[in-house]
Amino acid sequence: MSTPARSVDTLVVGGGLNGVGVAYYLAREGVTDVLVVEAEEHGSGATGGSMGNVRQQGFGHPLEIECSRRGLDFWKNVEERLGAPCLFHEDGYLLLTGTAQTAAILREQADLQISMGLPDVQLLEPDEVAELVPFIDPEGLICGSWTPKDGHVMPMDGLSAFIHAGRELGVKIQKRWPVTRLERKPDGWHAYGPDEIVAQRVVAVAGWGNRELLQPFGVDLDIYKATHRAVLTEPAFAGSRIPTVIDIDTGMAIEREGEALMLAMLGRNPAARDHNHLVELFVEAAADRAPGLADLKIVHELTAYPALGGDGHPYVGKVEEGLWALAFTGHGAMHGPPVAEALARSIVDRPDPTLDLSPWDVRRTPGQRTVLWRRNATS
Ligand SMILES: Cc1cc2nc3c(=O)[nH]c(=O)nc-3n(C[C@H](O)[C@H](O)[C@H](O)COP(=O)(O)OP(=O)(O)OC[C@H]3O[C@@H](n4cnc5c(N)ncnc54)[C@H](O)[C@@H]3O)c2cc1C
Repeated sequence: MSTPARSVDTLVVGGGLNGVGVAYYLAREGVTDVLVVEAEEHGSGATGGSMGNVRQQGFGHPLEIECSRRGLDFWKNVEERLGAPCLFHEDGYLLLTGTAQTAAILREQADLQISMGLPDVQLLEPDEVAELVPFIDPEGLICGSWTPKDGHVMPMDGLSAFIHAGRELGVKIQKRWPVTRLERKPDGWHAYGPDEIVAQRVVAVAGWGNRELLQPFGVDLDIYKATHRAVLTEPAFAGSRIPTVIDIDTGMAIEREGEALMLAMLGRNPAARDHNHLVELFVEAAADRAPGLADLKIVHELTAYPALGGDGHPYVGKVEEGLWALAFTGHGAMHGPPVAEALARSIVDRPDPTLDLSPWDVRRTPGQRTVLWRRNATS
């Protein structure tokens, strides 16, 4: 004998930062019966391994910049908003290039950012870059784009804060409940997993899992689960403020993690096969641009699983009556919370008139890749 299906008003599929974020914002909008189901554990998607950079710069579209403004404000005020602590490491963010073409894009992006009332961006000369970051060799650089008030967070802290604040408003969360299929029937949306749930409304925020969930409804998202490798060094540059540094030309990425540095290569194709290969690629790139890092000892290896694909913009909005979706292919830590909030407002029919998410509609055809260090990658 099968057990009868459970009923809820709103089912959110995916217990990462943004699934729980949408659930919290829906509850704040007055939806009283919200259940989040997560296939594994919180953070087993992209959220758990995220670098968590929150930056205003490096974006070429006003919607991205507006989401950065709101995202930065969110992350700097998590405790006030959600009642749970979340450190913001204001280390600053530095993009480097030695090519005239990329320097021109950075200049354009900085001008757009400034025209939108975010003046915290400076284009630095090579010797100013070397003064700011002790391990950079300015030879061959054209400029550095620098935003001192940017920084990084632990997205898992934000997720915990959303869980805490959501629970206070009655949001329920169930782990180890993978949705294998969604089906619309006359009495509502049926979600099939370890048992069956009937919901009046479903919001799919399942990261790369959204591809499979939404295919039956004619939405074929260009999004897949990638493998990202990084390493942690021994303690380095004690007492120095080390910003997050991305060398756009090589993909070399450096982030302060406590006393150590986290090193990675972004947008490389093929990506690092394993951690030894990653270190080889990094040392090769660092030889010219960051020779001061070449001799650091590696003490820890990290593996994470970002959702990649698409053009760098998220997929968000209504799929069909009663079915909504949100999926990021990058930037979902910094842009996720404001987009989750705006989506929740659209779902309850009180859209935010100041944030038009239609350019990122879930049914749009993806455009050109926008992430500077992924422009030349083929996957
Ligand atoms: C290495 C790395 C570096 C990053 N760096 C940055 C950065 O610097 N700045 C930034 O803004 N962003 C960054 N990101 C991206 C950002 O972290 C993500 O965009 C964001 O965390 C996505 O959150 P999410 O809740 O949308 O998705 P996820 O965290 O992927 O959550 C989706 C959840 O859905 C669950 N799920 C999947 N399928 C199903 C199913 N069928 N049923 C139930 N549950 C399901 C998964 O288990 C998962 O927990 C990075 C990501 C990685 C991995």
